[in-house]
Amino acid sequence: QDHVIGAPLQARCNSTASVQTDVTAADARGYRGHDMLAPFTAGWQTADANPLVIEKSKGSYVYDTNGKKYLDSLAGLWCTALGGSEQRLVDAATKQLNSLPFYHSFWNRTTKPSLELATELLETFTANKMSKAFFTNSGSEANDTQVKLVWYYNNALGRPNKKKFIARSKSYHGSTLIAASLSGLPALHQKFDLPAPFVLHTDCPHYWRYHLPGETEEDFSTRLAINLENLILKEGPETIAAFIAEPVMGAGGVIPPPTTYFEKIQAVVKKYDILFIADEVICAFGRLGTMFGCDKYNIKPDLVSIAKALSSAYMPIGAVLVSPEVSDVVYSQSNKLGSFSHGFTYSGHPVSCAVALETLQIYKERNIVEQVQSISPRFQEGVKAFSDSPIIGEIRGTGLILGTEFANNKSPTDPFPPEWGIGAYFGAQCEKHGMLVRVAGDNIMMSPPFIFTPQEVEELISIYGKALKATEERVK
Ligand code: PLP
Repeated sequence: QDHVIGAPLQARCNSTASVQTDVTAADARGYRGHDMLAPFTAGWQTADANPLVIEKSKGSYVYDTNGKKYLDSLAGLWCTALGGSEQRLVDAATKQLNSLPFYHSFWNRTTKPSLELATELLETFTANKMSKAFFTNSGSEANDTQVKLVWYYNNALGRPNKKKFIARSKSYHGSTLIAASLSGLPALHQKFDLPAPFVLHTDCPHYWRYHLPGETEEDFSTRLAINLENLILKEGPETIAAFIAEPVMGAGGVIPPPTTYFEKIQAVVKKYDILFIADEVICAFGRLGTMFGCDKYNIKPDLVSIAKALSSAYMPIGAVLVSPEVSDVVYSQSNKLGSFSHGFTYSGHPVSCAVALETLQIYKERNIVEQVQSISPRFQEGVKAFSDSPIIGEIRGTGLILGTEFANNKSPTDPFPPEWGIGAYFGAQCEKHGMLVRVAGDNIMMSPPFIFTPQEVEELISIYGKALKATEERVK
């Protein structure tokens, strides 16, 4: 059966794969026309209404309801860093569920796992001094919390006008109202009345797509820093509270920063007393071959958002790390007001914290950063070896994160017509050959579990090659 999903290729494409084929394949899965209003899903699309239902996981693989096995090249949603069957995490959750399944952390009550995890996180993050950890259930909640913390901080300092946030075009910071506003992806704004008016977006640091003729990476970074400074001056530095950035942009298409980018951006941000928020939701805990993205790019943030690999996704949990400068002010303000009135029922959920503590312990014992460093060169080289393909514009990434962008004539200014569904076809071919990838238009993203073995890297490269060949043939 041919798992063709997405729009059928048209015009230059030489196949006649029809939507009928898709319906048959999807019907075989047995969940056609289900009742879930699914996240990030176009309900009217034939294939989307007929989901691939995953039932089981083992190591770096997941299995669907028909027993078909897939290499999980995205680690769920960039998150199951320890793969799908780490018994120690199951045991940590079970132990905690048996002793204390829940207690909250409001009003000066809390639980041991949350206190221990806060301490552990502050010790683990060394790029800048952090003094407090605030727990959330997700990356989106972490970024929403950042905005509230920063506003509370500036109100406490008597700077009520310093409230605007600068984020970057193509960034992804989550999908709650504020996190979606910070994100720089049009689909997150359209028809949701977003972004909120206090959010401004500056340039996406994508050298291949946006550099001027003859401009070096370094010159490109200089230009982006000047543009940022001009935006700050235009708005008035006294109105800009914070700048937020992913060390490597993830969902926007995997975009590592150009050389000297963060050095130059940080200088501008510092000059105007603007807080730097590092959104490490994807990059943290080893993904880039360093413990945090901030370590790799010498970022000295005031605030940090984490989630995903924090618990290897076995339980939902996110956190905000807060520098002493910010937390001191927040503390004194909350003393004046009688409370820091922000938090979630499940902030510091003991089961999530117990699982996260065990996850961090495993990262330490298994030298997870070294493990990523040992497998990532072959992962990067093996996939980047396909860069010469006539339908690939760019393959980019670092550590265990990679993006592929299909483009006509290998040019950033000549995309394939969206209705050809090149990315969707490539994704369907990967699925057919037993691998799941993230498809967003003509961008393909991969971020395998940290436990990937050399054999699994070879399997990924081999399936990628087969899917690419099939896609090239369709485009001929
Ligand atoms: N920030 C980044 C960089 C992300 O990649 C994501 C999710 O992919 C989020 C925030 C939002 O996290 P969540 O989906 O847990 O709300």
